[in-house]
Amino acid sequence: MTERISIENVSYRYNDQEGYALNDISLNVYDSEWLAIVGHNGSGKSTLAKMLNGLLFPEEGIVTIDGISLTEESVWDIRAKVGMVFQNPDNQFVGTTVEDDVAFGLENHGIAQDVMADRVLGALKLVNMSDFLNQEPHHLSGGQKQRVAIAGVVALRPDIIILDEATSMLDPQGRQEVLSTIRELKENSRLTVISITHDLEEAAKADRMVVLNKGEVFKEGTPLEIFKLDEELTALGLDIPFPGRMAKALRNKGISLADTYLTQEELVRDLWTYHSKK
Ligand code: ADP
Ligand code: MG
Repeated sequence: MTERISIENVSYRYNDQEGYALNDISLNVYDSEWLAIVGHNGSGKSTLAKMLNGLLFPEEGIVTIDGISLTEESVWDIRAKVGMVFQNPDNQFVGTTVEDDVAFGLENHGIAQDVMADRVLGALKLVNMSDFLNQEPHHLSGGQKQRVAIAGVVALRPDIIILDEATSMLDPQGRQEVLSTIRELKENSRLTVISITHDLEEAAKADRMVVLNKGEVFKEGTPLEIFKLDEELTALGLDIPFPGRMAKALRNKGISLADTYLTQEELVRDLWTYHSKK
């Protein structure tokens, strides 16, 4: 597996704070993987995300993206590789129309005028928003706004997209729209996705998960390995997805089932098997 991001012994403390927001974190992110980062509020997720595109710089340690270490000098090269989508779409708009908004990011990165129009249209098409070119962003639904924000990122052709709770303000439909947009992009191009999320059903679909706690990596592993931790996760203020909780309740009633389940389909399948053996 090719390494895309390497975080080596990174620590960070905000100016006025005594404690470290990130405390000696080491972590790799690999090419084309979908990595979910979870952890309760204040565990350092957003601080870590901001460190991956130079909105913050490590106090100690090194962040390397595609072999380039993050410094004040390399920050623009790194921002061209790493796109970020934040929680609140309303704070991310600068253009008066959808088209202008997506173009703005390109202008900032010095993309030539003649390539720009094509890139903007292409990116809006990818997120299914090309019918909204001349609309004012604040008239869009939450899901549509986030898809435009994604178009702004996609237009820059990043290799890595970071979603920092990017779907948490959306209703279930908006959330689905945004996630399936990113999934499609990932299938059709070489994209690495880092998704910081409270949505455990979403995290369960990731290739790999990292659990942060108090600015440290508590555990990393596949979703199955992570959700097997069960009570260790609840102790950190995290939960396990519904099928896992359901299976646990059933096991407590004497029904023999696997340690944990990530999807309802798997649980239903085993319940049928159990039922037909009875
Ligand atoms: P998360 O995204 O997991 O909720 P954050 O990275 O936002 O966590 O925060 C990690 C820690 O850093 C918390 O203790 C938080 O209070 C602190 N922190 C975050 N942003 C700032 C800031 N701008 N100034 C001071 N402290 C901050
Ligand atoms: Mg956060």
